Amino acid sequence: MGLCNWPGCNDRHNRGMGEQIIALTDLRNTSDIPAIPTHRPAPSGLLADALGRPLRDLRISVTDRCNFRCSYCMPKEVFDKNYRFLPHSSLLSFEEITRVARLFVQHGVTKIRLTGGEPLLRKNIEVLIAMLAGLRTHDGQPLDITLTTNGSVLARKAAELRAAGLKRITISLDALDDAVFQRMNDVGFPVADVLAGIDAALAAGLGPVKVNMVVQRGTNDHEVVAMAGHFRDHYGEAVNLRFIEYMDVGATNGWRMDDVLSSAEVRRRIAEVWPLEPVDPNAPGETAERWRYQDGRGEIGFISSVTQAFCHECNRARLSTEGKLFTCLFASRGHDLRPLLRGGTSDADLAAAIAGVWSVRKDRYSELRSAGMPATEPGERRVEMHYIGG
Ligand code: SAM
Ligand code: SF4
Ligand code: SF4
Repeated sequence: MGLCNWPGCNDRHNRGMGEQIIALTDLRNTSDIPAIPTHRPAPSGLLADALGRPLRDLRISVTDRCNFRCSYCMPKEVFDKNYRFLPHSSLLSFEEITRVARLFVQHGVTKIRLTGGEPLLRKNIEVLIAMLAGLRTHDGQPLDITLTTNGSVLARKAAELRAAGLKRITISLDALDDAVFQRMNDVGFPVADVLAGIDAALAAGLGPVKVNMVVQRGTNDHEVVAMAGHFRDHYGEAVNLRFIEYMDVGATNGWRMDDVLSSAEVRRRIAEVWPLEPVDPNAPGETAERWRYQDGRGEIGFISSVTQAFCHECNRARLSTEGKLFTCLFASRGHDLRPLLRGGTSDADLAAAIAGVWSVRKDRYSELRSAGMPATEPGERRVEMHYIGG
């Protein structure tokens, strides 16, 4: 086990360079059941946390399973045939998810992202989408419903997802070179099938499509310019490619600062070939910084959680596959809503319990880390991303 090489961090993480992965401590049981406050004002759509941040974005993990083993997310050495994924009985049903989502919407959520694991592996996911599409925001507007997928089964599902009410989609693709991509997804999945998924999404009316590329120095950073060129030349404004800095989520990917290529460097490499100019954000709390090609060939984005933390605007809550509420991607503990959901708690009490959790939220993990301050309590370990959702 080695000391983390993030400036100022003295954590001992699971794996240092060239070291073996140590068995994962199962954090999925580490949670508390939120108390139901005695004061229970009706949701006003204006719920804010202890730092004044509103609740706008709910990410729902619909499965902890995935058919890929991306080394930065679910390394094969840990998530092997012996790993125990959640049993079906512990997953929230579509009715339970929709009920929780409705309460979050009453508190101010306007956007829902379905994620995982691989969300398209959840059976009948289109039924859930249709149920969520029936919800309305506090001022009567339809929700912005989107989904993040590895694209592996999208070619055959895109049209039914759109018909069910999905508005937009984000597809992950880390390289155009088959050898690089197959090494990263670690199951030999070909690039062509993801590209077919992107085309199917566009044909189904899910555009503009966002494509996420996690950039790892020395692994796929040499693909950055080729990816930018492919999407601007073949798709223009129809595809928005976003470069994500490799993050220290979870405790199994052996993250090292040396493996991070900063967004500034990625942008410099692209701008050397195709000059770029900044674009104003669409909405407060947006994760990606927007840039466009000066020649009008569309936009790209940069998600820089490592080098430019954006906690001060973070309006995202996450609901795990079996109903735990997490208020930060880097949290170690969740708040278990399932016993309340299955124990006869009324909507008013459940809404109050959610408000109780959000209103005391002070999370700002990435900002603390960037400032070289301890961001995780001693002895605590962060939950895995495939479990709480990306
Ligand atoms: N399976 C789906 C997919 O890959 O799109 C959805 C879930 S995945 C956890 C959501 C997003 O998180 C993906 O775009 C993925 O590339 C990204 N991601 C996973 N681990 C990451 C890490 N360590 N650093 C940065 N991004 C990561
Ligand atoms: Fe699966 Fe997505 Fe994680 Fe890759 S990033 S292992 S596709 S959940
Ligand atoms: Fe939000 Fe936590 Fe990420 Fe900061 S580190 S932006 S609080 S999820």
